[in-house]
Amino acid sequence: MPRRPPGRGRLADLIRDAAGAEREVTARVLVNAGGPWVGHIIAETLKIESSERVRLVRGSHIVTRRLFEHDRAYIFQGADDRIVFAIPFETDFTLIGTTDRDHEGAPDEAFCTPEEAEYLRAAASEYLRTPVAAEDVVWTYSGVRPLYDDGAKSATAATREYVLSLDAPGDAPPLLNVFGGKITTHRRLAEAAMARLAPHFPEAGRRLDGAGAAAGRGFPA
Ligand SMILES: Cc1cc2nc3c(=O)[nH]c(=O)nc-3n(C[C@H](O)[C@H](O)[C@H](O)COP(=O)(O)OP(=O)(O)OC[C@H]3O[C@@H](n4cnc5c(N)ncnc54)[C@H](O)[C@@H]3O)c2cc1C
Repeated sequence: MPRRPPGRGRLADLIRDAAGAEREVTARVLVNAGGPWVGHIIAETLKIESSERVRLVRGSHIVTRRLFEHDRAYIFQGADDRIVFAIPFETDFTLIGTTDRDHEGAPDEAFCTPEEAEYLRAAASEYLRTPVAAEDVVWTYSGVRPLYDDGAKSATAATREYVLSLDAPGDAPPLLNVFGGKITTHRRLAEAAMARLAPHFPEAGRRLDGAGAAAGRGFPA
């Protein structure tokens, strides 16, 4: 469990390798990019009390027998204004997703509920010539979005923007917590994270921002 020894300016943790040997590692910064576990790491691993909360929002999918012959995707808009996609999947199947449901419990225990499967079937059936029957569903799966809890009423309305929260009391090593985010914004998020940490590492000297990238000095494309 990482510790913050006062005044040492470093975090320390014990790691155990596959053979069971333990050794201590130290770091001058910790970036908590634990995805759906970000809140768990703050509260349970680091034992830090924080007012910031992650909102776990489940996105479920159904995989059906192949529903159409061409190789293009559909995006349908439902009466609830949400969009649902239907994508050709693994040659013989169609992938339909997703939902937005507040998720209680452990992130790795998420599954598509019968109600979510029904919602996805109904959403696609509104548009497809042949309605999607329960027997068409061959598999389901879910992922959990670790959204920043901005107090929005519905899971759909909760912000999809990433939020970086820096915790750097006194001379303790900084902890940067990453809430939310998208694959599509990973680079911006990484640049923003570096910008938040830069004041703590003045000797680092090189900015990894858009200008740096344009000059060929940033992340590899
Ligand atoms: C249903 C759904 C739909 C999505 N749709 C889109 C989309 O259309 N477009 C888009 O751009 N993005 C989308 N996303 C978001 C995208 O998947 C995430 O932004 C992305 O996966 C985040 O990557 P990450 O590495 O930050 O977190 P993750 O991929 O969640 O990785 C976190 C890692 O932390 C590890 N970890 C946890 N606890 C610890 C610990 N104590 N010590 C060490 N490691 C730990 C975990 O094992 C995991 O590997 C979607 C997500 C979901 C769930």
